[in-house]
Amino acid sequence: MAFCYTCYDERETRPEEREHSIVVRGEHVAVKTAVPICPVCGDEVLTPEAENAILVSAYEEYRRRHGLLSPREIASIRQRYGLSQRGVARLFGWGPITVQRYERGALQDNTHNLLISKMNDPSFVLEALDSPSCKLTNAEREMLRSKVLDSTAYYKEQAASAVEGVLTREAPSEYTGFRRPSLERLGQMALIFASGLAGHLFKVKLMKLWFYADFLHFQREGVSISGFPYARLNMGPVPDNFSYILGWMESTGMACIDVVPTTRGEGEVLVPLVTPQENLFSDSEKEDMSLVLAKLGSKTGAVLASISHREPAWQNTPHAARISYLWAKDLKAFPAPPTGDAE
Ligand SMILES: [Zn+2]
Repeated sequence: MAFCYTCYDERETRPEEREHSIVVRGEHVAVKTAVPICPVCGDEVLTPEAENAILVSAYEEYRRRHGLLSPREIASIRQRYGLSQRGVARLFGWGPITVQRYERGALQDNTHNLLISKMNDPSFVLEALDSPSCKLTNAEREMLRSKVLDSTAYYKEQAASAVEGVLTREAPSEYTGFRRPSLERLGQMALIFASGLAGHLFKVKLMKLWFYADFLHFQREGVSISGFPYARLNMGPVPDNFSYILGWMESTGMACIDVVPTTRGEGEVLVPLVTPQENLFSDSEKEDMSLVLAKLGSKTGAVLASISHREPAWQNTPHAARISYLWAKDLKAFPAPPTGDAE
């Protein structure tokens, strides 16, 4: 029962969808909401609950229009860090019940919305922890810091092992140089190349060094070093799925990719973060890597591209297809010694 002010009497109301136009922050927002209707006069009987429901759906529409977080999204970002509502408020130095109000449906301040959405990035939370507006106690601060660091390490580990699983399940064949692909070996090869070069190891150069070391070793011993397949791209041969490979190296903390200025704008370089484990490789593998580094390490990316374009391995493989290691016997940059067979 509710009191109808038109009839001036108690009525058994029934819910009905009605359209209301509400002004939210100076903007008209029209929403359809079920409200109690007086069955006698047909007027709306606006209880405080009904008024609240209209407001809640108007805010929902306003948030949708302006790309603001929903109360549920705010709560889920907060819970990911194991923070209480007051904890988030203290992190940013807001009033104690601010976040509680937002999660109950109050329309959030635009600046507050921006800060909460930035919390999706764990490194932003670390920055906020050290900001002067942070009002967390020292103990809370340290707890949050270790939570952030643990979760990023955990997710990176998960991502790295997922990538590794996909990229290394291929059976040995002429496209892997008759070896099972090993991301660890491929990554370590990059670290060895980087440590052999005094300056930056540009991404384009790394691709060629990988290709030549693997193919040269195959030419000499009938097996590749990394077990990775290479694809024929316009820039030359590259390890298949190389962007995942570089991502894997970053997520394992082996190396990171930086952008540096070059004479022609900017270029991406591999920056090693750990020292290479040379004992992973046999003497002949190390020797082939040194040979490739000595011959090609000082060449520019453009020169390396044109060298690789002269390779029968590249010329005889269709665009974007995988390159067979069987072409290694015809390497132009590293000609195979005569076999002695009369051909
Ligand atoms: Zn009525």
